[in-house]
Amino acid sequence: MAEITAPRGVRDVLPDESWKWAYVLGQFRGLAESFGFSEVHLPIFEHTELFSRGIGDTTDVVEKEMYTFEDQAGRSLTLRPEATASMVRSYLEHHMASGPQPVKLWCAGPMFRYEKPQKGRYRQFWQLDVEVLGSVNPLVDVEIIGLSLELYRRLGMTNLEVVVNSVGCPVCRPAYREALQSYLRPHLGELCGSCRSRFDRNPLRILDCKKETCKAITEGAPDVMDSLCDECSGHFAAVRRGLDLLGARTHIDKRLVRGLDYYTKTAYEVLSGDLGAQNAVCGGGRYDNLAESIGGPHVPGVGFASGIERIVLTMEQQGCSFGRAPSLDAFVVCVDEAIRDEAVKLLYALRREGLGADMDYQGRSVKTQFKTASQAAFACILGGDEAARGVVAVKEMATGNQEELLFDDAASSIRSRLSR
Ligand SMILES: [Zn+2]
Ligand SMILES: [Zn+2]
Repeated sequence: MAEITAPRGVRDVLPDESWKWAYVLGQFRGLAESFGFSEVHLPIFEHTELFSRGIGDTTDVVEKEMYTFEDQAGRSLTLRPEATASMVRSYLEHHMASGPQPVKLWCAGPMFRYEKPQKGRYRQFWQLDVEVLGSVNPLVDVEIIGLSLELYRRLGMTNLEVVVNSVGCPVCRPAYREALQSYLRPHLGELCGSCRSRFDRNPLRILDCKKETCKAITEGAPDVMDSLCDECSGHFAAVRRGLDLLGARTHIDKRLVRGLDYYTKTAYEVLSGDLGAQNAVCGGGRYDNLAESIGGPHVPGVGFASGIERIVLTMEQQGCSFGRAPSLDAFVVCVDEAIRDEAVKLLYALRREGLGADMDYQGRSVKTQFKTASQAAFACILGGDEAARGVVAVKEMATGNQEELLFDDAASSIRSRLSR
């Protein structure tokens, strides 16, 4: 039988990497809570309609990238491709609008998109997701951007820059759309295939095409800033003032439109890394019409999502610290199989003291056991002689110092040494 491997585009995050994820998640959790955000756990799958209506039927995500399936009862369900639509669904379903506003929530977990796998991009990927629902205040946009910036600053990333744009609202976007289409129409034949298909359905997305020919054409495209209504331009100015207050390095990019239909007003990304080789580490913005598009009342919202794979990759490239790699406090070296029971007792005494402790169960040689013990802070060496005298030889691996401790005191004594 052929060996069964993980499906294409997904992967295992193994212990040599998972501790880095835990570090990023821990930093994120602490920071989100310190900004007044609360965690929610959302389902991995939702009714397909949530995404087709919320994200938009004509987006790449909904058209090509969703994992959609029927359950046993014939319902169409979809593995979530992002968390924002689910968060808004949850806010509506649990009547969060009736409490104090805004509601500040975060979640973290896997998302699923059928995309071409490449370095740092997988079909199952983890996102940190932060949303504020129920406020139109531009300072809430700043709060979201500020939280993401603070996260990357704490993680040690360098050259952080906020790229920001406004994508307008249902009042002013139609005029901009038309202006853009009139500008692009004479160049239709020169645009790439996907841009040609976007021309009628989603012309704004032509602005963020990465193909050089398309970029050259859109260079002279009308500026969205000239089309914004008073409300949108006032909102954008207030967001920029707020970012100045934070001392954020900010850059306006009219090409930043983002791939999802639900964005209104603010769209942003945070870049990090050396100039010319900068990576977007998060993307987000305001989505004041998402709740209505999934059948709810008008609920303004703003948020961001950031992929853990991308964060870890960027941190590795920049040589950022992930804190201390997990290691054992003590490793019990059992020199003589005849006193295995004593060794097991010692192991659990260490664990009851709250220490990280382990031992060998395979009857490996003392030499091999010492090799493993060298990864721990202390080796607790137990042979027949020590057991007979009620002692254990404890070796501090960093210094090589070794001494005998009473068997019954060894665990608490090691714990007090470690806390010093
Ligand atoms: Zn507007
Ligand atoms: Zn193109």
